[in-house]
Amino acid sequence: MPARKILLYATNEAALRRKSRPVNKVTKRVRDLVRDLKDTLMGCPDGAGLAAPQINVHLRVVVVRLGLRDEDDATAVIPMALINPEIVEARDERADFDGCLSFPGLYGTTRRPHYLKVKALDETGQMVEHVFEDFDAVLVHHEIDHLDGVLFIDHIERPEDLYTIQRGADGTLERVPVPGLLDRVRR
Ligand SMILES: [Zn+2]
Repeated sequence: MPARKILLYATNEAALRRKSRPVNKVTKRVRDLVRDLKDTLMGCPDGAGLAAPQINVHLRVVVVRLGLRDEDDATAVIPMALINPEIVEARDERADFDGCLSFPGLYGTTRRPHYLKVKALDETGQMVEHVFEDFDAVLVHHEIDHLDGVLFIDHIERPEDLYTIQRGADGTLERVPVPGLLDRVRR
């Protein structure tokens, strides 16, 4: 099964802003969707998570790669699915790194909870509860936002917190602020 095309905000804003509806029952169709999401995410070396609306399916399903650190090869981490995820508890809100496969090349600093307790169905339809901490919590919060049409640019508080990255002369990655970028992407 080929990976699905990821919708980009630049050309598919309306679809990314649509609210997704809950899954009634974890049927084969839902499990196929989970597989498509995982395959699509696995095809993205830089991707930490993906939500169904990003492949134009408006159902409350996300997949996340947990435990990622900067130096990790993301493709080595098998994604986990959360169906109808609901936040039970959120705390420890702090600024952290953010980015999105629907905004290639754009990164930001956003404030999100670093402790998240989430109730969800797993792929077998069982209700499970998970606690996510640190960047895992940031990631899961970002993906659940997608299900309500909320995007990471909505969390950017200051224009300088949205930036691109380029490799500097000494080989290290550096932030490149783009004047007027936030106003342009928010239109
Ligand atoms: Zn995203």
